[in-house]
Amino acid sequence: VIQQALKRREQGEPVAYIIGSRSFWNLDLAVTPAVLIPRPDTELLVEWGVERIRRADLDRCLDLGTGSGAIALAIKAECPACAVTAVDRSTDALAVAQANGKSCQLQVTWLEGDWFEGLLGQRWPLILSNPPYVRDEDPNLHRGDLPAEPREALAAGPDGLKDLKHLIATAPDFLEAEGYLLLEHGWDQAAAVRALLLTAGFTNIETRRDLAGHERVTGGCLDHG
Ligand code: GLN
Repeated sequence: VIQQALKRREQGEPVAYIIGSRSFWNLDLAVTPAVLIPRPDTELLVEWGVERIRRADLDRCLDLGTGSGAIALAIKAECPACAVTAVDRSTDALAVAQANGKSCQLQVTWLEGDWFEGLLGQRWPLILSNPPYVRDEDPNLHRGDLPAEPREALAAGPDGLKDLKHLIATAPDFLEAEGYLLLEHGWDQAAAVRALLLTAGFTNIETRRDLAGHERVTGGCLDHG
């Protein structure tokens, strides 16, 4: 078994896929090649979400593009009273997320859909997402663990902003007044994301840095009534 695992590793398969799990926050999550391997950077997004939920005593939130379910489950673990809904368009990813919910004994509503597609008419006080944000031509797509990960969870057009643009443009229709949108993005995309949020009518726009000091998560509040 060890020989086999070493061989797979030599051939470039990520450790997380070989052992089938990765820890994130305080959870042990199953991962398969159907989902992005959770990154420690994303805990910054979870922290910010938890802070919003506690400060405003929110009773629900939405995680878009949940993949393994990492963000949704970490938030549910911290904020048991908050109803968490998580969406992914990949059936295979949702199966992994659902299994993670079971094994962690955390109740999340899992929905299949393309971003906001299945949520028409709903409004949320908090929406979080770690969307794909890597440029199509980024050489990093060919390095490290990335080649083994689902490309649709990583790459987002020539500027890497395709999905971030869609989320920011569409979120206002799905946010309550004073609702927050929190987005993970690439280390060099914060200014672009802030500009997009401003154009879409967001206020209180703020960027937070990851442990490496890179601008990694940007969020804003929607002022509409
Ligand atoms: N942070 C990941 C990476 O660059 C990308 C994750 C994503 O696209 N959401 O490896």
